Amino acid sequence: MNSKTIRFCVLCMFVSLALVSVTQKEEKKPKTKVIAHRGFWNRPGSAQNSIHSLQGAIEHGFYGSELDVYITADGVLVVNHDPTFNGVNIELSNYSAIQDFRLQNGEPIPKLQEYIDVAKKQSQTKLIIEIKSHSTKLNEDRAVAAVVQMVNDNNVAHLVDYISFSQNICNELIKANPQHRVAYLNGDLTPEQLKAAGYWGLDYHYNVLKNNTGWMEKARELGLTTNVWTVNSTSDMQYFIDREVDYITTDHPLELKELLK
Ligand code: MG
Repeated sequence: MNSKTIRFCVLCMFVSLALVSVTQKEEKKPKTKVIAHRGFWNRPGSAQNSIHSLQGAIEHGFYGSELDVYITADGVLVVNHDPTFNGVNIELSNYSAIQDFRLQNGEPIPKLQEYIDVAKKQSQTKLIIEIKSHSTKLNEDRAVAAVVQMVNDNNVAHLVDYISFSQNICNELIKANPQHRVAYLNGDLTPEQLKAAGYWGLDYHYNVLKNNTGWMEKARELGLTTNVWTVNSTSDMQYFIDREVDYITTDHPLELKELLK
């Protein structure tokens, strides 16, 4: 082989390596998954935490549809973000006091059972159930017990991830079944503390994760999942996609889905 041929072969080798590297780069799809915050409500005819918003999340194949749950005084699990509706405190009232109220799109306040009935007809989109902080430990424990019972009775444990700002609620969920996928929302526990307490993951405000730059990596190292809320700007979405966060919870799930393509 003369020196000209050798030079040509070396050149060919470099070109092939460069091509392989470009192809690999192109093929690397972001791993981040989309969670629609309070469902996919950000469109005409919908409302936050409505059955319509859940159906929208399912139609678009998002990983998850987040929802907020309270228990009424008489033990009915209802889906609503605020502790009150039209001035009525949900936790302190019987279901009959709120059953005639309507969401912005005309739906009644959904019961968790109605949410589950829709979710269990499919297998792609998970319910990301946020059990809200209640005024007493007793009511939080009642809410946890009732939600877990309902999820188990409907055989939908595989379709449910749990989140909460309340450490008591998270601990009760983990105590009920260590296999429950429970992520903590409040941002004041380190990945090491979450791991030691049996959590599945963290689900923190984007500023918490931007201010504690090592936490996502640490969480991954410990086998915890990473979720970030509520990320609505394209630049913040891209920031967390680049850092390979597992889940982004957003009010603009379609925009995020496009970004991930
Ligand atoms: Mg929520």
